[in-house]
Amino acid sequence: MGGTGVIDLHSHSLASDGQFTPAEVAARARAAGCAVWALCDHDTVAGLEAAGDAARGVNVRLVPGIELSAFLERHEIHLLGHFVDPRSPSLRDFEDFLAARRRERMKEIVVRLAAAGVHVTEAAIERHSGGKTIGRPHVARAIVESGAVATVKEAFDRFLGEGQPAYVQRYRLEAADAVALVRGAGGTVTIAHPGVSRLEIGEVARLAAAGVVGIEVLHPDQNPSVREKYRRAAEAHGLVCTAGSDFHGPDISPDRHLGMVSMTPEALGELERRRP
Ligand code: AMP
Ligand code: MN
Ligand code: MN
Ligand code: MN
Repeated sequence: MGGTGVIDLHSHSLASDGQFTPAEVAARARAAGCAVWALCDHDTVAGLEAAGDAARGVNVRLVPGIELSAFLERHEIHLLGHFVDPRSPSLRDFEDFLAARRRERMKEIVVRLAAAGVHVTEAAIERHSGGKTIGRPHVARAIVESGAVATVKEAFDRFLGEGQPAYVQRYRLEAADAVALVRGAGGTVTIAHPGVSRLEIGEVARLAAAGVVGIEVLHPDQNPSVREKYRRAAEAHGLVCTAGSDFHGPDISPDRHLGMVSMTPEALGELERRRP
């Protein structure tokens, strides 16, 4: 685990909407040349114990993480927690709360789909979700399986996306509450893929003031000019620039490979020094 390996701070497993088990992602991180790798499943830390065991076995350093969907006023954003304690009782409790809200939402989506003539069962959705976090990607796969649409994208475009007949909003977690939650579990908070979320510089400034310490400048879906824009924002607001591939697995995110972006060991050290 020298200073030469890749540092990729964003990936997903079957604990949320990824394709592989945490142990499989660890093996793939190793194969991709990662010295340091973070697993950041949506709304859950359930995969972190298995990820840590597997990472030790392949001599990769796991940074335990989570990705939280949150709201900054009307704007939905994603925040990454790194260095969180997976055994934190407050985090575990909150994760159970979010999972229960997601289950209620799923029931509502199933009802609305039926009203739109698409028949999928909760059991079918469960089969597509390996873990704790049930999300629209799992519903989309169940809709494809039902034969109503040909692709996951079509399922979002016609039914699940905002403004479509089976769209149901997620539980509304305020960004400030997400920050408090992660910090309470000993973690640092970073803005995930700011370009994908189309964050304005003023919003970056507000998040920095609210306790966010880093920003994911290097992400596969952000081109060089987008990266440069947020790199300048990071400099202006004293944020650490991080890198994350947002890997989900080739069947789910074919253009995002583990280790395709990497941050410096110095930036990682700086992020770690900003733990609460
Ligand atoms: P949820 O957390 O249940 O609202 O699901 C959000 C996830 O759905 C996002 O992280 C994306 O992975 C996926 N998603 C959102 N919109 C689309 C879309 N138009 N096509 C495919 N996947 C999407
Ligand atoms: Mn995802
Ligand atoms: Mn995200
Ligand atoms: Mn992600």
